Amino acid sequence: MEKIKKILKKILKFFVTIVTVAAIGWVIVILWPKPVFGPEEDVELGKQVVMSIEEGGEGGPVLSPEEYPEAYEHLNRIVEKVVASSAIEYRDIFAYDRVRIIHNDSVLNAFCTPGGFIYVYTGLIRYLEAEDHLAGVLGHEIAHAERRHSSIRMQKQFGAERLFELIVLTTPVTVRDAWALSIIAELTGLSYGRSQEAEADDYSVRYLADTEYACNATAGFFEKISEEGGERPPEFLSTHPESENRVRDINRAASKAECSTELSDQSAWKSFQASLPPPAEASEESEESEETQEMEETAGP
Ligand SMILES: [Zn+2]
Repeated sequence: MEKIKKILKKILKFFVTIVTVAAIGWVIVILWPKPVFGPEEDVELGKQVVMSIEEGGEGGPVLSPEEYPEAYEHLNRIVEKVVASSAIEYRDIFAYDRVRIIHNDSVLNAFCTPGGFIYVYTGLIRYLEAEDHLAGVLGHEIAHAERRHSSIRMQKQFGAERLFELIVLTTPVTVRDAWALSIIAELTGLSYGRSQEAEADDYSVRYLADTEYACNATAGFFEKISEEGGERPPEFLSTHPESENRVRDINRAASKAECSTELSDQSAWKSFQASLPPPAEASEESEESEETQEMEETAGP
């Protein structure tokens, strides 16, 4: 009997020890400082993407702000109006004041990296008939940055530690490790899920509601581009059959918000278009179009 008591005591002691060790371990895991990849880090991550874009050229050279001050004045003016919205959270942290125009007349697109570095193609500016439509696309792209769509996804996929490692790299993209290249490639591809696109559309309405622009201008852009997209519509129309639903949802959000859907004064729009470099010769354009085909497939508002 005494022997059994002794054995039971030993077993109990063993379990108490295990439970204590597990509890201590759990407390350490909970309390251990975790790296937090916040909006400030998004800007650093964005800088890495910018470095990569401007080294490799994302479908064309970046127009120099010194050479095209008028075009940049127009673009900055439009971006400033959108980011002045009270619904913008990271105005003081993100790089919205550092916009760039990519010279490629055959790309109807714009994008915004994590941390708010905005790029707009000359093709999109030339193509659109209303400033509001560009403001709508910008609002949508800014929403992807504000809602931290790609940085949160990258954090889940690669872990915050890896992203921190990436943002301290100062070496050129060509000599970076494979993991760094794959993060950069995903970030320059900037592909978003359906729910993220819907959220970005919805936020574009909120941002534009605070401006003089038609708050449903993103829908106007989709409508125009799907009607007249021509032979090579951007990928989001060919691969996302729900674009009609997106137009409907944007218009619904606009009527719910009771914001104005009237186009704003368009007097500056033509001079913005005229301030771009003259359209490329037809032969040059067809050479360019093959190069950009691949990129168009992965990017899109
Ligand atoms: Zn999008």
